[in-house]
Amino acid sequence: MNELTELYQEIILDHNKRPRNYYLIEDATHSAEGHNPLCGDEISVSLRLNGDQIEDISFQGEGCAISKASASLMTTLIKGKSLKMAKAESSIIKQMLTSSEESEISIEEIGDIIALSGVRRFPVRIKCATLAWHTFEAALNGDEKTTTE
Ligand code: ZN
Repeated sequence: MNELTELYQEIILDHNKRPRNYYLIEDATHSAEGHNPLCGDEISVSLRLNGDQIEDISFQGEGCAISKASASLMTTLIKGKSLKMAKAESSIIKQMLTSSEESEISIEEIGDIIALSGVRRFPVRIKCATLAWHTFEAALNGDEKTTTE
């Protein structure tokens, strides 16, 4: 295991153990539940939009370390951002997670989420990592439930 892989592992384990933004937003404007039947991950994402700004975003749920870390990292990244920016980041990150090609995305652009890029080597875990992003997009689209299938 090289140093970078170890760092990535640490980030994932840390977010799994101490998930950020793990609560329910009482006055959420958007929310959705996401399910990944392949692994059994279930998370709910709620957010409060004010104009074009994501004032607050949180998640709750049960799942494997990858799915929880991914949701925690996602909320950390897009909280306080504009909707346009958050949508752009969502598509960049989904591409990073699902593309077989080495991505050109740098840690400066997406921060600690780069730690999830390792899942590309484990196809069965990719859906664990993308679940939070699919659920975020479902919430924005007004879909109450979404699944990775
Ligand atoms: Zn999972």
